[in-house]
Amino acid sequence: MVLSNPEQQLHAPKSLQVRDWCVWYGQAQALFDVSLSLKEGECVALLGRNGAGKSTLIQSIMGLVPKRAGTLSLDAQDLMGKESFELSRMGLGWVPEDRRIFSQLTVMENLRVGFRSKPQDSNDKNSLGSFESAFSNQLEHVLTLFPLLRALLKRQGGHLSGGEQQMLSMARTLMSEPRWILMDEVCEGVAPQVLESLKQSVLKMLQTGVCILMAEQNIGFVQGLCSKAYVLERGRLVAQGAETELNDAHWIQAQLKHLS
Ligand code: ATP
Repeated sequence: MVLSNPEQQLHAPKSLQVRDWCVWYGQAQALFDVSLSLKEGECVALLGRNGAGKSTLIQSIMGLVPKRAGTLSLDAQDLMGKESFELSRMGLGWVPEDRRIFSQLTVMENLRVGFRSKPQDSNDKNSLGSFESAFSNQLEHVLTLFPLLRALLKRQGGHLSGGEQQMLSMARTLMSEPRWILMDEVCEGVAPQVLESLKQSVLKMLQTGVCILMAEQNIGFVQGLCSKAYVLERGRLVAQGAETELNDAHWIQAQLKHLS
């Protein structure tokens, strides 16, 4: 439901809502009537094997797949028709599956690309100094979430390991201070010994109050992070579980047929 009355909007619980969502690539339909929600403070898993439609869902929410139908709202505000840059300004962040690191740029330069100054920073009389100080503050905040990046600030993006690149991709997204983060398979290509560090970073991110929709195939990674899970198969939601189910061996066993 999209609320048009400002009074209603003020008191509505903050949430990202997707309803009856259908997406097409040309004539081929990739998502069929998908409905899900992400409430303030939540971390929600979107599970499914390769080709299930996880990236399509995330990219279409970000406005990157044009042919779509259904309802999309954030904090009860209609998002249909908004451009990707507007969604970003409204607090949506995207961690793409392929990371999109600038390999010729250093870690610091990649993080700078992700930073967006707020209007008050550029209105300031001393706007360059203000921009730099806002950047430094945000950089410090992000480095507390991804401490391993601190020693790598001068290294080129192309010279990082898969896990380090993934941390950089997540950190770069955080430089724009998103409240709602759509993460696409952050475990992919990350060495098992680095996954625990990545999980700790996500836990710390959650403690700062961000909300995360996490597309994943790795159930072990989402356990302990997510309070809800949706399972996608061939573009349709086929199951849904709460935190109890995510930690229940029988439920997981039943979902494996959709994941492997
Ligand atoms: P993966 O982990 O492999 O990315 P996924 O769950 O994210 O899997 P999608 O990439 O969203 O799945 O793919 C869903 C369906 O849409 C698949 O059938 C895929 O072939 C198709 N598809 C994805 N991108 C495109 C595209 N750009 N053009 C046409 N079809 C596409």
